[in-house]
Amino acid sequence: MAMNYDVAIIGAGAAGMMAALRAGQKGRRVILLDHAKAPGEKIRISGGGRCNFTNIHASAKNFLSENRHFCKSALARFTPSDFIAMVDRHKIAWHEKTLGQLFCDNSAKDIIRMLLDEMHAGKVDMRLGCEISDVARNIDGFILRTSEGAIAASALVIASGGKSIPKMGATGFAYRIAEQFGLAVTETRPALVPLTLEPNLLGDVAPLSGVSVDAIVSHGKTSFREAMLFTHRGLSGPAILQISSYWREGDEIHLSLEPELAILDLLKSARKDNGKQAVQTVLAQYLPKRLAQYLTERLEMTRPLADQSDRAFLSLEASIRRWAIKPAGTEGYRTAEVTLGGVDTRQLDSKTMMANSVPGLFFIGECVDVTGWLGGYNFQWAWASGHACGESL
Ligand code: FAD
Repeated sequence: MAMNYDVAIIGAGAAGMMAALRAGQKGRRVILLDHAKAPGEKIRISGGGRCNFTNIHASAKNFLSENRHFCKSALARFTPSDFIAMVDRHKIAWHEKTLGQLFCDNSAKDIIRMLLDEMHAGKVDMRLGCEISDVARNIDGFILRTSEGAIAASALVIASGGKSIPKMGATGFAYRIAEQFGLAVTETRPALVPLTLEPNLLGDVAPLSGVSVDAIVSHGKTSFREAMLFTHRGLSGPAILQISSYWREGDEIHLSLEPELAILDLLKSARKDNGKQAVQTVLAQYLPKRLAQYLTERLEMTRPLADQSDRAFLSLEASIRRWAIKPAGTEGYRTAEVTLGGVDTRQLDSKTMMANSVPGLFFIGECVDVTGWLGGYNFQWAWASGHACGESL
């Protein structure tokens, strides 16, 4: 005999827990299944352990999707303020770090505890360490074959996330279920991920490994201004993670380092005041020392300022302001914060997240082709899509 529920949700991550608590609190009998041993594992490790749980500026422009308007409805109906109200109700202290990014003062575990308490209030039946071997549809809804036994539910919500960090239990489960029910999945690729460089280029920038600098990093018309980091494998840091979601194999990205620095003026006035100084010494007052050394050596500007022409200064400025780099690849799903692409939103109802062609089947969170920028946007999408789904159940 199958256990009977109104709703079965697969995936006890951010989106699945939000949908479960909403549906449970509306009086639905909800079962939440996860093959992991603990719920919300990605919440636990997020934001360096403090969970960047939302971004107060979240709007559709902060998301990538083949169907850019899809996310608007859910985002408008469950806003950052709505999530903050829940956090405040649970007396979780938080602060804005930068650029509208909200973090817990104490620990990401506070957010998990909050979601568990809310699910408890909705009498959600959570089963962890549960393997799902088969999903089928019948006249009453869905039948799941699981390690907990057979489960029957009128509605099935897939909240099993994307492919990023397989070590933490990420699987392509959602995409397989989408395909089983005839839904298209857009191309998936690692996003918010460090970029790698081919060996020659890596050797060239090796002296910069560990150097962090404020930069505008651009790809085509898209650019982000945040810190970037040279690593022993390539490029990382917030600005690089952001641009990685837009970058494609073979493309160049452009770096403008310390964008507010008036390099030409500074060099010219230093030449006037003290022409005996080395170019590197002047640059090192404004840029990390190793970067100043690398740039001047690369342009062979080893003679003092007085021996440098305006043209040489212009070349130096160009190498700081218009540095074109062609990454070789990305670090892949092993370290990617999210998966770009996913279940094609053109087949989902934007108000409920239900598949148009399969009544009762819902997809929410990261498995859907809606991917946020770095900075709390991905959790906001998980909360908003989970809430939209939970409300409609
Ligand atoms: P997930 O949180 O991935 O949850 C999916 C759940 O489904 C998991 O519990 C998994 O065990 C389960 N599951 C998967 N396959 C199966 C299966 N076959 N059977 C049963 N269960 C299954 N975003 C932010 O907005 N702010 C941040 O600070 C932030 N920091 C991050 C830091 C790191 C290191 C990483 C990797 C991501 C971070 N993100 C952050 C992104 C954010 O974690 C995700 O966007 C979000 O967790 C997606 O929520 P989800 O519920 O859709 O999926």
